[in-house]
Amino acid sequence: SASSGPALQGDLLGAEARVAVLLPLPLREAYDYRVPDGMALVPGDVVEVPLGPRRVIGVVWGPGAGTVESGRLKAVVRRFDVPPMTEVGRRFIEWVAAYTMTLPGSVLRMAMSVPSALEPPKPTLAYLRKADAEPPPGFKMTDPRKRVLALLDDTLAGGPPRTPGELAEEAGCGVTVVRGLAEAGLLEPVLLEPTTLGRPPDWARPGPSLSANQEAAAEDLRARVGTGGYSTVLLDGVTGSGKTEVYYEAIATALKQGKQALVLLPEIALSAQWLDRFAKRFGAPPAEWHSELTGAQRRDTWRAIAKGEVPVVVGARSALFLPYPDLGVIVVDEEHDSAYKQEEGAIYHARDMAVARAHLGGLPIVLVSATPSLETKVNADSHRYARIELPSRHGGAVLPDIDLIDLRRDRPPARHWLAPSVRKALTETLAGGEQAMLFLNRRGYAPLTLCRACGHRMQCPNCTAWLVEHRLARKLQCHHCGLQQPLPPSCPSCGEEGTMAACGPGVERIAEEVAELYPDARAAIMASDTLFGPRAIQEMVRKIGDHELDIVIGTQVMAKGHHFPMLTLVGVVDADLGLNGGDLRAAERTYQLLHQVAGRAGRGERPGRVMLQTFMPEHPVMQALAAGDRDGFYQLEAEMRQEAGMPPFGRLAALIVSGEDPTLVDRVAMALGRAAPRGETVHVLGPAPAPLALLRGRHRRRLLLKAPRATQVQPLIADWLSRVEIPPSIRVQIDVDPYSF
Ligand code: ADP
Ligand code: ZN
Repeated sequence: SASSGPALQGDLLGAEARVAVLLPLPLREAYDYRVPDGMALVPGDVVEVPLGPRRVIGVVWGPGAGTVESGRLKAVVRRFDVPPMTEVGRRFIEWVAAYTMTLPGSVLRMAMSVPSALEPPKPTLAYLRKADAEPPPGFKMTDPRKRVLALLDDTLAGGPPRTPGELAEEAGCGVTVVRGLAEAGLLEPVLLEPTTLGRPPDWARPGPSLSANQEAAAEDLRARVGTGGYSTVLLDGVTGSGKTEVYYEAIATALKQGKQALVLLPEIALSAQWLDRFAKRFGAPPAEWHSELTGAQRRDTWRAIAKGEVPVVVGARSALFLPYPDLGVIVVDEEHDSAYKQEEGAIYHARDMAVARAHLGGLPIVLVSATPSLETKVNADSHRYARIELPSRHGGAVLPDIDLIDLRRDRPPARHWLAPSVRKALTETLAGGEQAMLFLNRRGYAPLTLCRACGHRMQCPNCTAWLVEHRLARKLQCHHCGLQQPLPPSCPSCGEEGTMAACGPGVERIAEEVAELYPDARAAIMASDTLFGPRAIQEMVRKIGDHELDIVIGTQVMAKGHHFPMLTLVGVVDADLGLNGGDLRAAERTYQLLHQVAGRAGRGERPGRVMLQTFMPEHPVMQALAAGDRDGFYQLEAEMRQEAGMPPFGRLAALIVSGEDPTLVDRVAMALGRAAPRGETVHVLGPAPAPLALLRGRHRRRLLLKAPRATQVQPLIADWLSRVEIPPSIRVQIDVDPYSF
């Protein structure tokens, strides 16, 4: 391709032809390899090369550096028949690595996460159940075997044949069980052709007729995508204002030009409604990219994207690293959402990386939110980003009234959690044939279990966290490391029996109260651990939409994007929940979440009502929500951050030191503290215990570097780290722009 530079040809340049190949491994730089005679390579080509005794896949990064004698160079083994990674794709990997202080190879690994996609797809072996087959004599029908056959019974009723791997996974057994059944003649083999992609989305299909405000917004976006070139736009509109229809127009424009569009959603597995809507608008679904895909889906999708066969990708943050040949627009929906921050491995914020990707690729990016992050709001206020506003709900629906319920006066009965006024409103809503939602961002039955005799609290042995009772599952669970244990019959500390008591509410406990108050109402819990997989979520969303439920008790899974026309009452059980703790973003995040939850009410023809139960009705967050004064809240929040020199007015970077030996962790953290950069404007706070001082058995300390906004923190940190020796058992993670602290 023209942008990939000249071919590096072994046969033309003789023995001197060499290329630098970046490997998707934690390595600092690309390694040189010899280009064998007859092979022509361009930068971006995906190749297989030897590394010690292994063969690994890498990407040609450029001409070789020439430090190793060519006689000693190993040769490239082969080139894969996929389009080369684009120049922009390669610069993006380098940029992300430099910004997040991750090794380039580790970032490349995110882009090359599906090695099987490099080979041309082969037909795969799958099985159906063989009709009327009897097991051979002596063949034992064990439970795992029965489970596999039971699965395939369903298949005869219309499902597709499945691969041995899929069958084993679904039946919860090994692949050998499936093979055994096949050898016994009980399964019918079929060869599946590689999946072909369905029809592409059709940009020419007419969308709904847009309101005047929507049309003006859409026209702005169409012009930006049409001319191309980098710009960042904040699409700022209240919930239900029709932002989605507007950015669909930006997508249509990109497709019309033969380019691709990428839409990032914070939690794609929860976005069945979004996918349905897209398919209705464009006549075909987009390609999806998220952790719930099967291996075969990942392979087919990756390959099709690389070959330019996928016009629209909707995905989680990792979709940023897919091999788009010619991206025309990026949309980041709910841009303020904390799910965009990746906290493991390479630590990055997908929204910020998406802006960098758009900048490098010279294309427009649209950040969409009803409650933008303070970062984005400040960038729009200072005209670094453009802003498009949609100030009212589509079709004349009005924003709900928000009432503050002061729990100090309007008190729920003992060991109950719903205030009398909220109960009254619930009763009225149900009597009127409407739907209600109770929101509590806490899974399980009770967040704390303690002994009434001695005060002992059930804590996770691996984490700084209490164990959460899940009554439906009859377990205590750690929400950080996943530890599960049965409820103790007696206190593990004092031995008394029958003294362990649940403290505080989770959604299961609210559901119990609802069942007691309204035994005839159709109620259900919607939380990530009560719904298994996207299909269950989809089904629940459909049930709510079709009014098959009267009361939904939900965690933040409920807060996201859904549109429920019959939902007229939202009760927030504990509006103060996110405000405790010292996190700098606590107020911003609580405001955003509660605003979003409130936005679920009254989206149809009937007006909505929101009741926030709080012990702090005078808190600025509550006051702003009740008054509908979003910008007043942002202003206050911005002033506080500016005064403290905190983001987005100052910059932060965190070093997290962790290890299993607390003494050693402390020693390294102290050494880092002593070696910290000092200056008039640069400060290092800590070491202090990290927010989760013990996580999955690792002790964690944190140092926080604070600097003026214009400071480049990466060189400071690199220099800082180079002055301290880090023992191999200790890990130091760098988090540039930490999200929570
Ligand atoms: P937002 O994303 O701003 O919360 P949505 O795009 O979800 O808002 O729109 C809210 C509701 O209004 C949806 O049901 C959507 O289908 C409907 N809607 C928005 N714009 C139009 C339009 N131009 N014509 C018809 N219905 C629309
Ligand atoms: Zn734990």
